[in-house]
Amino acid sequence: MDITARSPKVMYAGKALQKFDAIIPRVASSGEAAYGAAIVRQFEMMGSYSMNASQAIVRSGDKLRSLQLLSRKNVDLPKTGFAHNLLGKDDVIKLVGGPPLVIKLLQGSQGAGVVLAPTQKAAEAVISAFQQLHANFLVQEFVAEAEGHDIRAFVVGGKVVAAMERSAPPGDFRSNLHRGGSAKKIKLSKHEREVAKAAAKAMNLNIAGVDLIRAKRGPLVLEVNSSPGLEGIENATKVDVAEKIIEFVEKKVA
Ligand code: ADP
Ligand code: MG
Repeated sequence: MDITARSPKVMYAGKALQKFDAIIPRVASSGEAAYGAAIVRQFEMMGSYSMNASQAIVRSGDKLRSLQLLSRKNVDLPKTGFAHNLLGKDDVIKLVGGPPLVIKLLQGSQGAGVVLAPTQKAAEAVISAFQQLHANFLVQEFVAEAEGHDIRAFVVGGKVVAAMERSAPPGDFRSNLHRGGSAKKIKLSKHEREVAKAAAKAMNLNIAGVDLIRAKRGPLVLEVNSSPGLEGIENATKVDVAEKIIEFVEKKVA
């Protein structure tokens, strides 16, 4: 990238790219989000329309910040706490209602870094271990009644265009497809659709994969992904999600 030029440039294989009408960013949330978003910002400065804005991509790549933004917009979440040092350990365990509870590395994705602690002792042991490694993590209420299922709602331009239920493989509570989970098409309730749309809106994402879990007290948002995968949801629902995205972007540019 030529950062300082009067006219910002993005170079690829030695050549300056032309100005595109629109770009469709695909930025992995793990690690590279800030760099990916910087490239997107450069295109925005060149006047290209970006399907998701660079600022929204940065925000959704940070679990802690995302949950704060969602909470501020009154999107229902599992009870979640964060403590930076050992002094807060007992408080944060108490805050989420005690064990069983879920502990999540802030940098984790695809289910890696999500641990279920069934007892107080287990929770303390995992928290100490993470702290020894100077890792940042969330402590969260365990939604047992979800029984290893969660929902991915795919939002395009403020509408839910496809939804699937993911189920954990036997013996696991994490339903990530990358961990061997299975997926099937599902019909969402009106309320679930509203929650998914509100979550995408709170994050200012035009295209979003909103992960929900069905708790006794209603649907709770687990996370919002700014570059949701297409293969799993298209296979499960037979909806041409990519086409919906293209149609949305074309309309915006027109
Ligand atoms: P990742 O970013 O690694 O996908 P998630 O927060 O989405 O992390 O958690 C992975 C999976 O673990 C979820 O899809 C869900 O099936 C399960 N899970 C996560 N949090 C909870 C919770 N609080 N209660 C019950 N199950 C959960
Ligand atoms: Mg997830």
